[in-house]
Amino acid sequence: MAISNMQAIKQSNYSAIYKLLYTNDKLSKQLIAEQLQLSLPTVSTNLQDLLQYGLIKKNGKFESQMGRRATAYSINPTAIVSLGVEIFFDHATIVLINTHGNLIDTSRLSLMFNRQESYFKQFGEWINKFIKEQKLSREQIAGIGIGIQGLVSNDGQTILYGKILNCTGLSVEDFKAYLDYDITFYHDADCVAVAEQNQEQSNQDAIYLSIGEHLGTSIMVAGQIYSGQNGRSGTMEHVTLDSHRGRPCYCGKKGCIETYCSLSSLLVDNESATAFFNRLSQNDADTMARWQTYLDYLADAINNLHMFVDNPIVIAGEIVRYIDQSTINDLAERTRKITAFPDDHNYLVLGKVTDYAVAIGAGLPKIEEAIDNI
Ligand SMILES: [Zn+2]
Repeated sequence: MAISNMQAIKQSNYSAIYKLLYTNDKLSKQLIAEQLQLSLPTVSTNLQDLLQYGLIKKNGKFESQMGRRATAYSINPTAIVSLGVEIFFDHATIVLINTHGNLIDTSRLSLMFNRQESYFKQFGEWINKFIKEQKLSREQIAGIGIGIQGLVSNDGQTILYGKILNCTGLSVEDFKAYLDYDITFYHDADCVAVAEQNQEQSNQDAIYLSIGEHLGTSIMVAGQIYSGQNGRSGTMEHVTLDSHRGRPCYCGKKGCIETYCSLSSLLVDNESATAFFNRLSQNDADTMARWQTYLDYLADAINNLHMFVDNPIVIAGEIVRYIDQSTINDLAERTRKITAFPDDHNYLVLGKVTDYAVAIGAGLPKIEEAIDNI
């Protein structure tokens, strides 16, 4: 057998053992050999190599009725970490996540977004400081994902359309001047979908309706974001109902669903979502009336989405902090009343990620890439 073939097999065993451990809490050498149909010496050699590189660790012993208790092996969840960032117009947040996508720590930077050199410098200094404080080595960091309110090129290197932050044309190179890491942009609504799927540990086909200050939508098919030819699929927020007389949208058009279903459409000037939902919980009459109108609009949007794609619709994003299953049931009831088809099944789901969904979802693909490359 050619040497290159031998090396390829060795590499694939090494990789298969790591990936098997990644999807299991812990396993013994025997169980790994059985599941991958490898010999015990082959498994032993690879486990030694994985231990030496710090990718896995010994994790106690398994219970045994007789004989020696077998050593348990698990992945080392901090061997590969990534950083996820969300950029807002007046601040940015960063999360550090481990190999399982679990949150380790966060930081916040108050800084108005702009495209001056000084912004990228301060942004870079903030992240480099965070990396230092977390005592992370360069080898540990799989990369930095930046979740941003805008449409992103398929290679994640350029913002194709960024009206909210006025960042059309923004490039990862602008950040790399002060941040020497692998950096990729992701559409914020897609990040929310990725974070939700990671939390659910599922990759069911679904639409993620992300409701925060602004609205975003993402379509997940076979565990992948369906972004379409130009990265515009699923931008439900700019579907219009009355483009001549409707409410003005930040995109420059009128009547976009964004102007009826985002949190900024629900709130009045200087009103925070927390203040609104506090008043709602106190049964304030005016607040309750606004909420009822909002839910009617939202039910319309959900029903329209479901007409296009017959899959679960997950209500995700910032709104998840403020609502519970009773709101989902209420919305389901409203959609049943307006749908054209007799819809007896329940397709509406409440998301689970209440905090840092965009930043977590921006960090996760880097981890996935690093695991794929083992
Ligand atoms: Zn619009």
